[in-house]
Amino acid sequence: MSHFHRELVECPYCFNEEDIVIWDSVDAGLDPDLKEKILQKDLQNFYCQNCNRVYLLEKPFFYIDRGQKLVFYYSPGHGDFNKEGSRQPNGSLREDLGSALPTNFAFPLEGFRLRLVSSYNHLIEKIHIFDEGYNDRIIEVVKVALDQRIRQDQKIRSQESEPDLPLDLLFLSQAQNQLIFQFLKEDGQWDQVALEEQVYKQALSLLESFLPEEGAWDIVDRTYAGLLSHYASESL
Ligand SMILES: [Zn+2]
Repeated sequence: MSHFHRELVECPYCFNEEDIVIWDSVDAGLDPDLKEKILQKDLQNFYCQNCNRVYLLEKPFFYIDRGQKLVFYYSPGHGDFNKEGSRQPNGSLREDLGSALPTNFAFPLEGFRLRLVSSYNHLIEKIHIFDEGYNDRIIEVVKVALDQRIRQDQKIRSQESEPDLPLDLLFLSQAQNQLIFQFLKEDGQWDQVALEEQVYKQALSLLESFLPEEGAWDIVDRTYAGLLSHYASESL
C-alpha cells in the first residue's frame, strides 16, 4: 500500500504555512490514481491558499510496482550520487553507494529493478519505459545515438555553446514499431522525434549479455549508457 505523512510546509513566496500530505511511497498496483497523478505531475503539489501559487514539492518518495518488479526512488537530494567516480566500469552504481540506499521494504527485492532518479521528468520517463515493456538500460544507449541524429538533422551542434552536453531527451511512448521521444529544443520548446523499434532491438541483442543482474540500486542514465557501451566494446 501507499504511505504518507503530514507536514507543515511554508510557502516560499508568502510564508503562509499549510499542513499538507507528503507521500513517502506510491504503490502503483494498488493505487493507480496516485500513479496517474505522478504522470500528470500533480502528486506532490503545494497549493498555497493564501497567495494561490502552486508548485511542485521536491520531496523524495518511492514508486513501487510489484507486478513489474520495479522500485524507483525519486530523490532530488541524491544528485551528488551522479558525481564522477560513482560508477563501476560496466556503468552500474558503485556498490558502496548502492548499499547506502534503503532496502527495508515489506517484500524481498530479488530481481527488482531498483532505480535512483533525481528528477521528476526522469521518474515519469522510467514509468513509461517499463509500462511499454522496454529496458531502461537499452533505452539510454539508444538515446545516445538519437541525440547525435537530432543534432545532425537540426544542426544544433553548430550553434550550441556547450556541444557535449546531452540533449534533454525523454522516452514517451511506443506506436506502430516506433519509439517516440521528446526533447527540449534550444528555444525552450519540447519537440517529438520517432525512432524505429528495430534500433532498440539491435542494441538489446548486442548488449544483453553485458547487463548486470537486477536487485541492486542503480542509476540508469546517459552516463550509464556511455560506460556500458565502452565496457561492451572493450569486451568484444
Ligand atoms: Zn503563498
